[in-house]
Amino acid sequence: MIQPIDLCPGVLAFTTQRGNVNTRNKYSEFNVCNYTGDDALHVLDSRMMLCMQLGIDMDSLIMPHQTHSCRVAVIDNRYMSLDIDKQENVLDGVDALVTRLDNVCIGVNTADCVPLLLADPEARVVAAVHAGWRGTVAGIAARAIDTMVKQGARPGNIIAAMGPAICQACFEVGDEVVEQFEKAGFEMDSILTRDARTLKAHLDLLGANRQILKKSGLKENHIFTPCKCSRCNPASYFSARALGINSGRTFTGIMLKK
Ligand SMILES: [Zn+2]
Repeated sequence: MIQPIDLCPGVLAFTTQRGNVNTRNKYSEFNVCNYTGDDALHVLDSRMMLCMQLGIDMDSLIMPHQTHSCRVAVIDNRYMSLDIDKQENVLDGVDALVTRLDNVCIGVNTADCVPLLLADPEARVVAAVHAGWRGTVAGIAARAIDTMVKQGARPGNIIAAMGPAICQACFEVGDEVVEQFEKAGFEMDSILTRDARTLKAHLDLLGANRQILKKSGLKENHIFTPCKCSRCNPASYFSARALGINSGRTFTGIMLKK
């Protein structure tokens, strides 16, 4: 169920895998996301299993209610002391989390969008970012890095890994999406191709985020893409393009270990 991502010492990074997939069930087998139509008990069950594997309480597994925004929230002791309604308010409409707390797992839910994990192992600051094409255009990865810097991180020390996301061959987009990337100043030559037959545009969403990370001061050799395409591997990962948006999500998480 948990696929570890080798990021840096002192940090546990991972993505989840679906497990025994029943192809007729769009939430099969493992889903911790509670706002994409899954049964609440199944979500709770999945969360309990994940917490058991991580060796943490349910309160220490934290994920935002994502809306393709570019808002970042900091999970600190003040957040941990809030009651549950106030915590939900903090997490609503947020697409990236940053923390310095040990043994608190932050993460994002995705199905084709890019889940991005960031860690400064020296300053001990970590982040989890949901970067779909809208968030990528809005520069959410850069916003998350800015927030990490405010918490003491240095871009030159940050290690980044992107989890399972849609590959360029699978990510066909309309020209209006291409235009948004052009307007946002991406170097298009390295992220845009056109299908020889259909002439439809295909974007490299991981490559676009790599451009943002480098602009934010990360070293090229600190950026990893160790996972496979979500759309090409439906038995391992959820894919909104394959299953529709009412389906489970892959959870990609990060935790500072004491
Ligand atoms: Zn693919």
